[in-house]
Amino acid sequence: MSDKMAARTGADGLAAEIRRAMDDRELAVYYQPKFDALTGKMTGAEALVRWIRPDGTVVMPGDFIPRLEEGDGILALDWYVLKEVCAFLDRQEKAQVRRVPIAVNFSRIHAFEEHFVTMLGGIVDEYGISHRLIEVEITESALTDQSDKIADSIRKIRDAGFRVAIDDFGSGLSSLSFVKDISVDVLKIDKSLLSRNCEDEKERIVLESIFNFAHRLKLTTVAEGVETREQLGFLRTCDCKIIQGFLFARPMPEQDFTELCQKGIDEEPKEDILMTQAPSSATQLLLDAVFTRYALVILANLTRNSFYMMEYENFTSTSCPSTGVFDELIQHGASTMHPEDRELFRNTFSIPNLMAAYNRGEKCVSVVTRQIGDDGIYRRVETADYFVKNPSVDDVLVIALCHNLE
Ligand code: C2E
Ligand code: MG
Ligand code: MG
Repeated sequence: MSDKMAARTGADGLAAEIRRAMDDRELAVYYQPKFDALTGKMTGAEALVRWIRPDGTVVMPGDFIPRLEEGDGILALDWYVLKEVCAFLDRQEKAQVRRVPIAVNFSRIHAFEEHFVTMLGGIVDEYGISHRLIEVEITESALTDQSDKIADSIRKIRDAGFRVAIDDFGSGLSSLSFVKDISVDVLKIDKSLLSRNCEDEKERIVLESIFNFAHRLKLTTVAEGVETREQLGFLRTCDCKIIQGFLFARPMPEQDFTELCQKGIDEEPKEDILMTQAPSSATQLLLDAVFTRYALVILANLTRNSFYMMEYENFTSTSCPSTGVFDELIQHGASTMHPEDRELFRNTFSIPNLMAAYNRGEKCVSVVTRQIGDDGIYRRVETADYFVKNPSVDDVLVIALCHNLE
């Protein structure tokens, strides 16, 4: 049966045909390597199924998976691929070939399989493979319905020691709320978001925003479908961690992938990232530098008496509210200062005094005080509030940059 004929076969007929293809070992697993965006080291691979007909024609998953997903034929296929991957990792171990984690695609229907995690763990354990070597990829569209059930299923998968990736992120509609509610390890950015080669400003803004929020949520980011150096350059400047795409490697048969693992050859970045970066990304680099210099960065709206923390790492005191009422933040800050410095701190950063400084045309208000750390020791800290302007509102805003002087 040709793939055109397959396209006409109903879901049940196709499922039967796929079962036969599994028995006759016509289904092959290809591996597409993934690389660290900066060092070029191979960090893992994705398992992608191919149906290789006896006459040698290769049927791509796009030609049969969507219709298998209409019934439950996809379940058997995914378990088959997982077993093939485990058997492969086992062969690699016996041959003492360097192994990297392999991502396996699971259709959304698995989330409703009652014993999914038990089966997953059972198969992987049967082959004696560490759970850290298997990553479970679930497409974003899977997350749109019955989210509670899916969140629960994902939690159990992670509790069992498997990493979970959201695949094709950005291809659906309800991405953001799910990333907020569901804890996963990896976000795979859909290749459709790179369709303008990162040369279009809107495309860059959308990508920058996605990487920014993903990194703030401490998710590992993977860009898939990377085909050009321009895309690579821009993705690096967004601090994208992992690259998957034809630019580095196409999905390849097991033998070729094994050779790649054996050679241990990594893709070296061939040019300075500054040569390929897009201009808007400089902002991200600048922010990174600021966050490195200042352990505590706060954006406050003096007009509305509110604030949120943009960065907070390894600062003197660990107990600090991350968002809320600015007045309360200053009270809290004052209470962590040396008794002799409390009044100074409170006065300097009271809203009326900051507003007065703003109205006098001052650009910045700063003070050095002694703050107690979690270890009970006082250290000198500098707090500098810079007045900033958001063109779309009249509110008076400040960026507070704080750092330890010792
Ligand atoms: P996916 O999981 O998002 O896999 C990535 C797809 O992007 C693969 O297509 C890969 O070949 C393709 N790709 C990678 N780099 C590039 C690039 O630089 N440019 C372009 N244009 N494409 C690139 P493939 O192998 O045709 O698979 C299509 C989809 O079929 C997969 O998308 C996945 O959703 C599904 N699939 C594949 N194998 C399985 C499986 O075993 N189980 C399930 N449930 N789905 C699978
Ligand atoms: Mg995938
Ligand atoms: Mg994908």
